[in-house]
Amino acid sequence: MKNKFHTVRGYELQNSQKKITPAMEDYIEMIYRNSLDEDFIRVNQLAKLLNVKSSSVTKMIQKLGALELVNYEKYGVVTLTSKGKKLGSHLLKRHITIEKFLDLIGCKENILIQTELIEHIIDNKTVKALETLNNFFLNHKNILEIYNIFKDNNL
Ligand code: CA
Repeated sequence: MKNKFHTVRGYELQNSQKKITPAMEDYIEMIYRNSLDEDFIRVNQLAKLLNVKSSSVTKMIQKLGALELVNYEKYGVVTLTSKGKKLGSHLLKRHITIEKFLDLIGCKENILIQTELIEHIIDNKTVKALETLNNFFLNHKNILEIYNIFKDNNL
């Protein structure tokens, strides 16, 4: 096999034909999380949740609107399109799967930060494999216990 190594940026560029950047994914995931409780989210609410300026949110919402992922209505009201909901559901599931995996293998610190970083670079097939592994451990608690003992003895 030829050398297929790239820098991280190189890999990101390869993915850029998808046109969905990590920042866009963070927005869609957050809007989707919120949509499970409320019908819409306001720009200033989103700015608070993501710790960014309202002006940045407005700019991003316009980009997401151009990709037909969100509707931007009057008074700073944002909702997801059906395409946006589908993506949001996928992104939230991906986040939960990675977070659960890190928890299961015994990560104690910075689980959220690590999840936030990993989620943007991981392959969908790998996420699926992690989900299967999570389910395997949860359905076979005895094996998880054996793993935990093995882990504790090898620290
Ligand atoms: Ca996330």
